[in-house]
Amino acid sequence: MSVTFFVPDAPSETIPCHRCEEYREPCSPFCDGTETVSVAPEPNFSNMNAARLLSAVGLPVGEDLFGSVAVAGLQDLKMSIQIAQNLPAIRYGMHVTERVVGNITTCGQGDEQAQRRLKQLLDLVEWCIENQEGLSWG
Ligand SMILES: [Zn+2]
Repeated sequence: MSVTFFVPDAPSETIPCHRCEEYREPCSPFCDGTETVSVAPEPNFSNMNAARLLSAVGLPVGEDLFGSVAVAGLQDLKMSIQIAQNLPAIRYGMHVTERVVGNITTCGQGDEQAQRRLKQLLDLVEWCIENQEGLSWG
């Protein structure tokens, strides 16, 4: 299972189908060679990584891992991400371990991966601020 962060009201655009391009032939009989995607970034994470990320930036981590932030909350979220970016990875992992996933160890949770996910979320939040759109995840 995975969690996608997205902008529900973002405009979409039609681009060449990435699967057709990858396979160099039609990816399915139903594909017309294009796909419609959001113009906003749509980072996708495993459930566990999404839970870590939400917790690291102070957002509620519900059991079903979905939620939203309205335009009014974007600046606070941006600040929380920037604070989390300055925490050492061990604290990022520990923080979540205590609050979300009980005693599950955080093996393989490297600083680089944590930073990459925070940056992906920050890119989305900055897009939302610029375009005055709220974001959701689920
Ligand atoms: Zn296709």
